[in-house]
Amino acid sequence: MKRIPIFKAPNFLDQQVKVAGWVNNFRTHGKIVFVDLRDRSGLLQITFSKQSSPDVFDLAKKLKPEWVIEVIGKVQKRPKGTENSDLVTGEIELLGERLKILSVAKTLPFSIQSDGYEISEEKRLKYRYLDLRRERLRRNLILRQEAVFEIRNFLKNNGFIEIETPILTKATPEGARDFLVPSRLQPGKFYALPQSPQQYKQLLMVTGIEKYFQIARCFRDEDPRADRQAEFTQIDLEMSFVEMEDVLRVIEKMIQEVVKKIFPQKRIKEFPFPRLNYQEIMEKYNTDKPDLRERQDDKNELSFAFIVNFPMFEWSEKEKRWKTVHHPFTRPQTDDVSLIKEKPQEILAYQYDLVLNGYEIGGGSLRSYKREILEAVFEVLGHKKEEVQKKFGHLLEAFEYGVPPHGGIAIGLDRFLAILLNEPNIREVIPFPKTGDSQDLMMGAPSEVEEEQLKELHIKIEREENEKSDISKNKT
Ligand code: ASP
Repeated sequence: MKRIPIFKAPNFLDQQVKVAGWVNNFRTHGKIVFVDLRDRSGLLQITFSKQSSPDVFDLAKKLKPEWVIEVIGKVQKRPKGTENSDLVTGEIELLGERLKILSVAKTLPFSIQSDGYEISEEKRLKYRYLDLRRERLRRNLILRQEAVFEIRNFLKNNGFIEIETPILTKATPEGARDFLVPSRLQPGKFYALPQSPQQYKQLLMVTGIEKYFQIARCFRDEDPRADRQAEFTQIDLEMSFVEMEDVLRVIEKMIQEVVKKIFPQKRIKEFPFPRLNYQEIMEKYNTDKPDLRERQDDKNELSFAFIVNFPMFEWSEKEKRWKTVHHPFTRPQTDDVSLIKEKPQEILAYQYDLVLNGYEIGGGSLRSYKREILEAVFEVLGHKKEEVQKKFGHLLEAFEYGVPPHGGIAIGLDRFLAILLNEPNIREVIPFPKTGDSQDLMMGAPSEVEEEQLKELHIKIEREENEKSDISKNKT
């Protein structure tokens, strides 16, 4: 007999079916054992009666929460007055005739019946595979895929081509440290994991693809911060022959579609999203990510805005040098090379950020595609010519073979979803998140590796003095 998903059980009234899943809860009432069976699709009440099948009843009495079982039985109407209108299967129950225990379970380290917010996060992350049994998190995972599906659909229908770019690559500056991967075949050399697919997507514009997108995993080695993840997902896109407004319009329409289709209870306060001037916003709100909701306690209000006209550079007192507000590939709002070099503080950029309810959820820019502009920007940033050649020579060279004007944007998918799902942090919408200090508590990563592996990679670990003495202590 083929197993049916629980939610279909009501269609089989008075028929025999096979179901399988986890024992959600369990109670015995004299001569009847009640089990709520859970599978991906829902809950189903199963009764095992001593009278109708004594052997099965005896076995059923041994069940414990979270055991995995398979049951064959007859779907029947629940006795009057015992229906449960909260469940899709609330009108019916299964009279268990055969029971197979597929696997047993230890007592779980925490309850999976609640929302889980009250449980220590460390525990939840260590046992993430149990945490994800929780209804709330399962719903988040499913809505995440619904949203991504809608985004893919929208972008594909609008002529974008989804292209995977490499994970083993070369450093590209996004303002964080790189994760490095040692090369075994090229001793002493390292790949960097992408902080974003920035250079690839710009190089794709040189290929003539014109409209690229990717649901891209990005990696940034940042200092511990509560609501950051070392790896996260961006909706990354790039377009050729566009002005700023073309990029903004695609994004706001894409977001409108996702909200309408997947989160219909949410309301977008203003559409088209307002375009706000960086300078004015700073003067008025003293932040570049203002919360512009009418009522901040209204969970369903979404207030988007694009912030535009950012300065190109900002002075870093700490490093005593100019830095870009976005990244160096951003196009300044002038073609005057000497102005860029002489008065960097006056230069605005074709940069835009997208803010939602007080969070920055994305950002992008039109790009410099003229060599002399890019070189001037790098000069202001204090990069030597040879260094620029070494790091970005490939990009500059590519631009010598016919490059269309282009621009793009990246939206932080995790943050966007956390807001749409009313979650307090992005870890609640990421299947397997890391802790604030970038550990995967479930897998135990990062971890030490075999000496042999290090040798192959030409790596020697230099231990700190105190670690050395710990090791020698262990030996004695
Ligand atoms: N690469 C940028 C980022 O990850 C976004 C962009 O400029 O398209 O922040």
